[in-house]
Amino acid sequence: MPELRQNIITGDWVVIAPERAKRPQDFIIPKSVKVSDKTKCPFCVDSEGFKANKKNMKADHKDIYVIENRYPAFVEDESKKSIRSFYPEKGFYRARASVGDHEVVVIKDHDLNLLSFPKPLLDNLFEIMRERYIWIKEHEKVVSIMPIYNHGAESGASIDHPHAQIFASGIISNTVGQEIDGADTYYGVNGACIYCDIINHELKEKIRVIAENDNFVAIEFYASRFPFETWILPKNHQSQFEETTKQNMLLFSEIVFESLAMLNKTLDNPPLNFYIHTLPVIHKDSASYHWHMEILPRLSTFGGFELGSEIIINVMPPEEAAHYLKSPKRD
Ligand code: AMP
Ligand code: ZN
Ligand code: ZN
Repeated sequence: MPELRQNIITGDWVVIAPERAKRPQDFIIPKSVKVSDKTKCPFCVDSEGFKANKKNMKADHKDIYVIENRYPAFVEDESKKSIRSFYPEKGFYRARASVGDHEVVVIKDHDLNLLSFPKPLLDNLFEIMRERYIWIKEHEKVVSIMPIYNHGAESGASIDHPHAQIFASGIISNTVGQEIDGADTYYGVNGACIYCDIINHELKEKIRVIAENDNFVAIEFYASRFPFETWILPKNHQSQFEETTKQNMLLFSEIVFESLAMLNKTLDNPPLNFYIHTLPVIHKDSASYHWHMEILPRLSTFGGFELGSEIIINVMPPEEAAHYLKSPKRD
């Protein structure tokens, strides 16, 4: 029988439908092969297209560089808007300029794959994301910042050269807003951080935990929307991603590395997204909110019910997903 499960942070419901459950190998996993021609790839450093990007360079390291997004969702300087920009219809609809920042964090080697990045490269990626996060927080007038990664065409990636992105906006995203509200309400009633309580519960139950180190835990989320939806959280209460020390960032990178390796072993290079949910930069600190990463393998698409109701049907119970991920071999 299907089960309705509630995300206890946001209150959102999902349907876990195990009758329709599949084994990992029964999911149709699109093969994300690289199709682009390196000489035409806009992110390859020796390509023609890259030359135009040189002036937009925000940081340049040995294996990774950071550039301004050429087609930004949020723009640094409102006066730079193009002639194709919209002008708000005042008085009825609500609109405002989409100000902020949108950067692309590019891995120099075109041929690498997120799911098998060498560990030192993943360490560098998170350290550079944290550096850029802090730079944007200190230099731009933004409200919230979200680092993300799209891997594979089905995840929405339009360029197959490996890259992450940092979105910085003048608003709080719907999801983080809902999480903050839910966490505040829980704190008001229970006097505790809901994420810390989830971690304690999961470490006691041990049925959805897939990896753990001194400072981080990786779990299959109880109310998973996607098969193999994996959350990584700092074990000690911390509301702001950017406050993570260098030492702890290495432990974070280590558990992400392990989780990606497990997903790769079980699902054979699945398309996926990950993003970091953290306290908006307009807040100083929070006893109720707790930063975390969500990794979403994209093995299912939404139908009319999902879009119409925002109630998502997931055919893979997270307890089974954890079992598959922890098995030494694909079973
Ligand atoms: P994705 O669609 O996830 O692959 O992300 C690629 C991002 O790179 C998009 O946000 C594009 O706006 C941006 N982009 C595309 N071409 C360029 C370019 N030549 N220079 C900088 N950013 C680019
Ligand atoms: Zn390339
Ligand atoms: Zn907490």
